[in-house]
Amino acid sequence: MITINYQTIKREDPVKLPENLLFGRMFTDHMFDITYENGKGWINPEIKKNEEMSISPAAMVFHYGQAIFEGLKAYLWDDGRIALFRADQNIERFNKSAKRLCMPEIDPELMLEAIKAVVKTDKDWIPKKPGYSLYIRPFMVATDPYIGVRPSELYKMMIILSPVGPYYSQGFKPVPILVTEKFARAVKKGIGECKAAANYAASLMGQVEAYKEGYTQVLWLDAIEQKYIEEVGTMNIFIQFKDEVATPRLSGTILPGVTRSSVIRILKDWGYNVTERDISIVEIIERYKKGEVVEIFGTGTAAVISSVSRLKYTDFEMKFNDEEAGELGTKLYNEISGIQNGKIEDRYGWITFID
Ligand SMILES: *Cc1c(COP(=O)(O)O)cnc(C)c1O
Repeated sequence: MITINYQTIKREDPVKLPENLLFGRMFTDHMFDITYENGKGWINPEIKKNEEMSISPAAMVFHYGQAIFEGLKAYLWDDGRIALFRADQNIERFNKSAKRLCMPEIDPELMLEAIKAVVKTDKDWIPKKPGYSLYIRPFMVATDPYIGVRPSELYKMMIILSPVGPYYSQGFKPVPILVTEKFARAVKKGIGECKAAANYAASLMGQVEAYKEGYTQVLWLDAIEQKYIEEVGTMNIFIQFKDEVATPRLSGTILPGVTRSSVIRILKDWGYNVTERDISIVEIIERYKKGEVVEIFGTGTAAVISSVSRLKYTDFEMKFNDEEAGELGTKLYNEISGIQNGKIEDRYGWITFID
């Protein structure tokens, strides 16, 4: 067992959170940091001050892009306990991403311990307001100062924390989405199923184009036939048809979301006919015209559930539920955030506490 080194950091003033928390802009004052060296393994785990750091301009991450990350949240319950939601799933996915990018895996127990240690250190940063939480961002980058394409021999894994408010500050607000045909995000046998920084770089142009047209997100189609829906920017997607709730199957190009798998589990228990299959955009349009599409929603850690208000493909735009939040999406949002916040019994064993 590795022991984490806690620098003796004294916080002079009590933590004071601003009234207006902008998502992803504010960070706590500590972080977790561990180094990897070929031959030595993971060394020097420590909790230290979150401040600017120095790194070689030749560090391989800047040139060849070995960078992966994760995203999960810590929730402060009314009884004062701090809960993590399915953290084991994020850790497992982190190691899968690492493996695919020829980066070193990390002992899941050490990673969980690291997450707990840093959250515990900065627990005063978790806002004591309903809907608020502490976003946890573990990431790993190649730090080897070397110009030449090969896997790095040095890495850093760090965990930073960001206090966040409810994703939708004006209430649960449905989002308009553009289906893009101009760009592709990922192909089979590539790295689409990894939370790798490169995937987001590839997605930016589509995202910018969607913004210009007044849409907040892109729905990606498969890269080969440009026919089957895959996922949205940072969310998986579900279509509620009259007799079925369908989501694209995990084919190697989409991110296997923790929220996605939680939604599938809950819907099955509620008796819904849930399927993971290929869904073509043409099928959605044809069934929409027949009145068979009830609602569409995205799933992801940041927002939990995002109802889709409009979906545009070529010149055809579909509107759902008078652009209000859908019934099933709202029900799922209440269920999952209820479990995360301790208001609904954790019947699946999805919660672990930070002691
Ligand atoms: C993180 C992410 C998701 C959602 O995954 P969760 O584990 O539910 O947060 C979906 N798609 C992409 C591309 C993502 O990066």
